[in-house]
Amino acid sequence: MATVEVLLRDAIDRLRASGSETARLDAEVLLANVLGIDRTGVIAHPEAPVGDGSAVQFEAALVRREAGEPVAYVRGVKEFLGLAFATDGRALIPRPETERIVELAEAEVAARLLAAPRPPGTPKLRVVDVGTGCGTIAIALAVRLRARRMVDEVDVLATDDDPDALELAKENAVGHAVGDCLRFAEADLIPTYEEAFDLVLANLPYVRSEAMDGLPVATSFEPRHALDGGDEGLDVIRRLLGILPEVLAQRGVALLEIGADQEAGIADAVREIPGRWSCIVERDLAGLPRVARLER
Ligand code: GLN
Repeated sequence: MATVEVLLRDAIDRLRASGSETARLDAEVLLANVLGIDRTGVIAHPEAPVGDGSAVQFEAALVRREAGEPVAYVRGVKEFLGLAFATDGRALIPRPETERIVELAEAEVAARLLAAPRPPGTPKLRVVDVGTGCGTIAIALAVRLRARRMVDEVDVLATDDDPDALELAKENAVGHAVGDCLRFAEADLIPTYEEAFDLVLANLPYVRSEAMDGLPVATSFEPRHALDGGDEGLDVIRRLLGILPEVLAQRGVALLEIGADQEAGIADAVREIPGRWSCIVERDLAGLPRVARLER
């Protein structure tokens, strides 16, 4: 029977040869996934025997990863803010740079709910996650608000123009037990029948079209329309900015994820919105411009 050590050694060589820059990590994560343990277990027990059934499953996972498929799709899961999201080709894989937007949104909701007493009958805060993909922002926010007993005061809508992505988002919402705290709508940006929102959140596609071919191979397995933002990368974000005067409530805030090189581009785009708007760009943990915060 093969051992962890032997399987890993062979897998790391193969993944390295296939072009993975994270061959060891990939192999450890994939083997741990097949064995139903976490990565530390694999590292701590190189001598452990691996049953034939697991070895066959690990081989199948390796073949997919060798072909360039992202580890998150092979595993079927990706962590985001400590939550495990189901991932597959229906939607973009959650990325750590998107975590900031959830933290900012949570702080925004909390500040508004705690600012003044809310007698019974006070309308709920209205929040929308535009282009929710696998549900990342809306679900992580709902989970955090539930932990603070605030979720009942908030109406969270998650939209996507892709019905397949929405299905995955609904599965994730159920998986995190917030299926009943969220609404979902298939729409290009925001359905026209919705009233204005206090908080508009979005991680829309923002990669410049010409940069698409230079992205890692793994990215080519993700839906192109979730990444490709046109010439400057801001086509879809600009369309959202165009409707912002109608969809954002008078004292509302929009938090939009942008590319690290789009600080000037977003400021230009905001100047084209009718009325007076402020745009502050918040940095991510790497110190890169990441979340544009827009207010009237
Ligand atoms: N940060 C992502 C990437 O570069 C892009 C996500 C997006 O376009 N919204 O892979």
